[in-house]
Amino acid sequence: MLSRLSQITAMTCRIWTSARASSLVIVLCLLWLMVCRKLKYLNLCGCVKAASDKALKTIGYNCRQLQSLNLGWCENVGDVGVMSLAYGCPDLRALDLCGCVLITGYCIIGDSIYDSVIALANNCLHLRSLGLYYCQNITDRAMYSLAHSRVKNKHEMWESMKNRYMEEGLVNLNISQCTALTPPAVQAVCDSFPSLHTCSGRHSLIISGCLNLTSVHCACADLAHRAASALPHPAH
Ligand SMILES: [Zn+2]
Repeated sequence: MLSRLSQITAMTCRIWTSARASSLVIVLCLLWLMVCRKLKYLNLCGCVKAASDKALKTIGYNCRQLQSLNLGWCENVGDVGVMSLAYGCPDLRALDLCGCVLITGYCIIGDSIYDSVIALANNCLHLRSLGLYYCQNITDRAMYSLAHSRVKNKHEMWESMKNRYMEEGLVNLNISQCTALTPPAVQAVCDSFPSLHTCSGRHSLIISGCLNLTSVHCACADLAHRAASALPHPAH
C-alpha cells in the first residue's frame, strides 16, 4: 500500500478544500505527502486550511521532483513557505500563488531578510510560469529581485550554457491585480525576460487590472517603433 502511494505522480487534493476538513484529515494528508517522493503535479487550490508554510516545508523536504504546484487562494501560505519550495523543489516549472495575500516577496527570519522570489529565481532555474494574480502585497522589491537575479545568473553562466539559458526563464507571469507594483519595477522584469510579452497575441505578461502599469511594454513595441521610423517619409 505504502509503496503504491509513493508511486503517485499527480494529485488534486479536493478533500482539503472542504471547509469541514478535520485536523485528522489534514495530518493524514501531510503524512501522505511525506511518502510521495515521485510527485510531479500537485493541485492544492483553495485548500486554505491545509496549505500552510508547514505543509510547504513538508513538500520541500519530501517532494524534490515536483514540477507543478497550484496554491491558488491558499491564504495561509507566506514567504517562508515559498522559501521552502525554492530550496526543496529545484525542478519546479509552474507555480501558482494567486490570491496568496500574505506573500510580499521577502521575509524576516531572526535578524536577516530573505527574498523568497529571488530564492525561487536562483534555485528553480526551470521555472517558466509564475502566477501572482491578486497577490496584493507583493512589492516592487520582488520584481527588482526577479529582474536582477536573471541578469546575475546570466553573467555567471558558462558561455556554452548561455544560449540554453536564454531559451529558458519565465514565459508566463501573471501580476493582475497586484496593485502595489509600479511601472519601472515591472518594466525591469519585462526587459530581463525576453519571452514575456504585453503585446496582443502573445500576452504572456498579464497585467490586467493594474491601471498604473499600462506604460509597461515588451520589446515588440520598440521593434515596431523602429520599423515605423525606418520607413521612408511620404512626400508632401
Ligand atoms: Zn511582444
